[in-house]
Amino acid sequence: MSVPEPAGGEEAKQAKEAEDAEKYSFMATVTKAPKKQIQFADDMQEFTKFPTKTGRRSLSRSISQSSTDSYSSAASYTDSSDDEVSPREKQQTNSKGSSNFCVKNIKQAEFGRREIEIAEQDMSALISLRKRAQGEKPLAGAKIVGCTHITAQTAVLIETLCALGAQCRWSACNIYSTQNEVAAALAEAGVAVFAWKGESEDDFWWCIDRCVNVEGWQANMILDDGGDLTHWVYKKYPNIFKKIRGIVEESVTGVHRLYQLSKAGKLCVPAMNVNDSVTKQKFDNLYCCRESILDGLKRTTDVMFGGKQVVVCGYGEVGKGCCAALKALGAIVYVTEIDPICALQACMDGFRVVKLSEVIRQVDVVITCTGNKNVVTREHLDRMKNSCIVCNMGHSNTEIDVTSLRTPELTWERVRSQVDHVIWPDGKRVVLLAEGRLLNLSCSTVPTFVLSITATTQALALIELYNAPEGRYKQDVYLLPKKMDEYVASLHLPSFDAHLTELTDDQAKYLGLNKNGPFKPNYYRY
Ligand code: NAD
Repeated sequence: MSVPEPAGGEEAKQAKEAEDAEKYSFMATVTKAPKKQIQFADDMQEFTKFPTKTGRRSLSRSISQSSTDSYSSAASYTDSSDDEVSPREKQQTNSKGSSNFCVKNIKQAEFGRREIEIAEQDMSALISLRKRAQGEKPLAGAKIVGCTHITAQTAVLIETLCALGAQCRWSACNIYSTQNEVAAALAEAGVAVFAWKGESEDDFWWCIDRCVNVEGWQANMILDDGGDLTHWVYKKYPNIFKKIRGIVEESVTGVHRLYQLSKAGKLCVPAMNVNDSVTKQKFDNLYCCRESILDGLKRTTDVMFGGKQVVVCGYGEVGKGCCAALKALGAIVYVTEIDPICALQACMDGFRVVKLSEVIRQVDVVITCTGNKNVVTREHLDRMKNSCIVCNMGHSNTEIDVTSLRTPELTWERVRSQVDHVIWPDGKRVVLLAEGRLLNLSCSTVPTFVLSITATTQALALIELYNAPEGRYKQDVYLLPKKMDEYVASLHLPSFDAHLTELTDDQAKYLGLNKNGPFKPNYYRY
């Protein structure tokens, strides 16, 4: 189903853009604001994403995949007072006497605060948004119920929403990913947070319920990552939707569910698909993978890339990022593609486009990033040379036919966490990373800056839906308006001391553009 634009044709769109230019007056000031010098901490805390499995009993509906594929903090906090008592059984109060939260250990708050402050260093866009919009309080009166990973980076988002006037109640979208100390810091700061690392499935739904089902408090906005919160409200408290002004959804899975609801005519409020906003997509797919492919490969194998022959399957956004990084380190990179446009792009970028079978005997590394299945087959694996490294950067573990390697004549040796040697009868070893699952989710980290883009997009989507006049959005799923996408990018420019050129009146007229954007039509491909 195609993503609908806000109501109206081209004329209505232009009228809306003019209206937006006025409405987001706080946005216009940002690029003119005095530049803030950002101090990047040397010991920036990073967070590892790793997929895990859950074998827990199913409730009426099992939690989403994204609720078990997690970010996990590289930081760890251990306290002898941490015990096996469930947080649900504990009586805890913060220093102001409030017990409107449920976290592992409120005493960890100070450590969590430091983690949040470190994250803030690389999330200057949100801090800047706080400052610019603080006077206007665009979220005054907003009661946001949220269900996301609870990490230092999301804490920066939550505290930004509070600074902009919102009241927030928050649970974790993932049973493993909560940074307990960060949850404690949020609770200490007065946020009603219900989350801890290692929740049971029952705890997971209990936490969501504690956020939604509150006497004297009713949410009017939803921020979801994975769709579990939205599903819970639909199932248990459909009346709440009478007051909800909108849903902001971050994940592929959650967005898919929203489109399904919309198609079935069951979506009863407007929803914003932030997953597909241009800025977020570019950062998640191209720039993040450009950094994390090397990180993942090096952490697991210590491989040196100079002079190595690497084949990258798929030259989409992820493939382009991987190829660029590998080329920069002096690797000889081959590309496989099914699409002539992407294949031609690879040629223009200086890569040899080949069939996998042509190079499979000679390459040192095979990387899949197609989103497809059986791209690397058992036949390919049989023909690889000794010590060839095989890994996947695509969404699912279907790209490499790992199942075909589970045969009696092959021996599997776990040599490191996430690294298996698969040994053929003649002694040949293939180095399989993360059992064919997403390499960077399994073995590397996501830079705070990437998460900053997502968090800023979420904050702006909430502001937009909350403030939208009646009728701008119907009961459907929308992309973030282009102007706000541009604003997300502009908020990140000061980190680089980047100076935008302003259109002159004459130039704006010549191009038929508003001087404050949007600068591109929706069909523009960046
Ligand atoms: P894309 O559609 O832009 O690129 C995929 C490319 O693979 C396309 O150009 C397609 O023509 C090509 N392709 C398909 N089947 C092929 C085959 N059999 N052989 C060779 N090429 C083939 O998608 P994308 O944004 O690059 O994402 C690719 C995958 O990576 C998706 O599964 C996506 O969900 C996932 N992804 C991963 C991360 C990460 O952090 N690792 C981030 C974003 C997306």
